[in-house]
Amino acid sequence: MSSERFAHDQFGCANDVVLALTKFESKFADEQTCMNYVLNKLAKEVRCKECQGSNVRRLARSRDCICNDCGTISSLTAGTIFNGVRKIGPYLKMIWLLERGLAFNCFQIHKHLGIAYSTCLAIFKKLSTVIKDLMENREKKIGSALFMPIFMKRSRLTPLNEHPQAEQKMAYLKVNVKDEFNKSSEDVELKLNSLSDFDRKVYELIRAGKIDLDNILQKLEATVHDVMLPLFELEDAGLIERLPANYFALKDNSNSHLHQNLDAQPYSHKLKKHVSKCLLFLREKFRGISRKYLQNYLAVFWCWTDRKTWGPNSLLRACLRSSEISYHQILTYETPLDVNFIFGGDK
Ligand SMILES: [Zn+2]
Repeated sequence: MSSERFAHDQFGCANDVVLALTKFESKFADEQTCMNYVLNKLAKEVRCKECQGSNVRRLARSRDCICNDCGTISSLTAGTIFNGVRKIGPYLKMIWLLERGLAFNCFQIHKHLGIAYSTCLAIFKKLSTVIKDLMENREKKIGSALFMPIFMKRSRLTPLNEHPQAEQKMAYLKVNVKDEFNKSSEDVELKLNSLSDFDRKVYELIRAGKIDLDNILQKLEATVHDVMLPLFELEDAGLIERLPANYFALKDNSNSHLHQNLDAQPYSHKLKKHVSKCLLFLREKFRGISRKYLQNYLAVFWCWTDRKTWGPNSLLRACLRSSEISYHQILTYETPLDVNFIFGGDK
């Protein structure tokens, strides 16, 4: 095993990861051992799907179990995060590391375990979802905008040609656009009513999303001459704004909500300290993240800091008891505007 692939940083020394994996491999020699371990554990957790009894046992060398009471045979992994998983070793390895307070990023683990990066990422997201779901209703929520500085990676929600941080604005508008409109609705309504039909068309086009002059002309089948005055008027009325490179966008006064200054928040000194620590952790360990999965990374941060809750066997137990997490569920997840933040200790 080589340690050079793990860059040393202040958040979990490379040697610790290598040592932990060596220990893991001495306990779980191969995939079959891993699979048997999980299936036997599952047999103790599952209930019979027919009579709901807990008197079930695993069928020898099988992924099925039989109910000693009613004889029903069912799959052990069905309805858990291990459903349909062919190789369980990578799951166990990542669980093992997380339970030992060793944070890793998927690129490191993909290099180290020789598993496809996409597979590592999928497992990482599943495991962090299990932790994330346990965060609900446990702690007060804080604004996701506090984490803006580390939104450096794109996701499928990142608007085309924009910085990953633009996702924060999208998330904000999704929730607040109605409020924003209601607040100034009279004002805006008045202005909109005074527009000519053509001006209105230009406005609706820009309202649909940031757009450049060429596209406006193309979509309206108009000339520069046609749109110049309407654009000036809309800008003058404070409905739209002109951006560099002949782009136009809806005038948006919500930017002040996008950059939340941690110091200015009404949080305790302790909480602020923990958020700062988390920002540093996410930046150093993951080299920035996408906004979409912020809550998953906050879950990992909780696991990493809360050694009492997330000690050996804790995450595995949570996984055994979790319900199935589909690829679709992960793909369509989006971190809400307010996030759950738990800091576990003084790591
Ligand atoms: Zn039964």
